[in-house]
Amino acid sequence: MATDNAEASLAGLAEQRLVSDPATIRHADWLADAWARLDRMIGAGRLPHGLLLHGRLGAPMTALLETLARRLICESPQEGWPCGTCRACRQAEQGSFPDIHRLADDAEHRDIPVDTIRSLIDGAFLTRFGRMRLVLIERVERLNRASGNALLKLLEEPPDSMQFLCTVEQVDRLLPTIRSRLQRLRLREPRPEEQAGWWRQTIGCDPEQAELLAFIDDPTLVDGSEPTFDWQAVTEAWVRLAEGRGTPLAPLAPWLTTPRPVLARWLLRLWPVVARRHAGLPVAGLPRALAPSVDRLAAAYGIEQWLAVHTRLIRFAREAGHPLHPELSVEHLALDLVDPRLPRRIETP
Ligand SMILES: [Zn+2]
Repeated sequence: MATDNAEASLAGLAEQRLVSDPATIRHADWLADAWARLDRMIGAGRLPHGLLLHGRLGAPMTALLETLARRLICESPQEGWPCGTCRACRQAEQGSFPDIHRLADDAEHRDIPVDTIRSLIDGAFLTRFGRMRLVLIERVERLNRASGNALLKLLEEPPDSMQFLCTVEQVDRLLPTIRSRLQRLRLREPRPEEQAGWWRQTIGCDPEQAELLAFIDDPTLVDGSEPTFDWQAVTEAWVRLAEGRGTPLAPLAPWLTTPRPVLARWLLRLWPVVARRHAGLPVAGLPRALAPSVDRLAAAYGIEQWLAVHTRLIRFAREAGHPLHPELSVEHLALDLVDPRLPRRIETP
């Protein structure tokens, strides 16, 4: 079974290894139409100065954004693809191309602070190395009112040759003012088997590992720079808790060694899947390796606990950024999750 840390750091792996190779987009069937459209727009000189790529975020989207940026700065594109060998391509690959200004996705940050946007903008004004300055913002729905306003001024009157490339998944959470200034390109949703196929072809893993990678690849869930997250041990710990094996808190070790925001996101990712299995509904893309644990959780909880557990997990996620008493908050969560009185307690706080 594939449970090594390579999976946990998959986003980092994808960004470092995959995006420099245009083949990673060629393997993403669900992005082919969008890429062809972008290529036509670039060819006709009609790429909107504020482009919003709207679709499922994750490693393939990051690869698309990066490949598009390189296509724009490449000195001699080959049949619509970045050549990979010119000076601009090589500098971009090393992350040292001076006119690419990037605000990467960060699972830890629900909001983009205004200072972050200001320094991004300042940087974009400072350098003018090639034909075009690129400002890349991933998961642009993270803009809050202040940072959104700071960016808005620039979007309303874009400086010469400044190109904005943004990605979004939850477009309804994007500030309307920002949304109205960006031209949206809707990307097709990938089917689970397409995503698994993409992982198989791009990093050459076996089918079972590819299934897991497709399921877990969610920038709001797993931070690629977090190598210690062992999702399988974390899941198994919940199963053992729910089934009441051993002393109540003995299985908690994997939860205590996982950063709480990561733990919170994983539990919130897992719980709707458990509820669907409990109700006998299909779950698209559920990895076979994960199915037994999910089914045992589905058997351990009743339907009346569904909302209460969900509410409790959301509360835990809200507390997760708080530095005080991390162990205590994890233990309280664990105790609540195995408490049969939970639904009543949640209803009458
Ligand atoms: Zn090139």
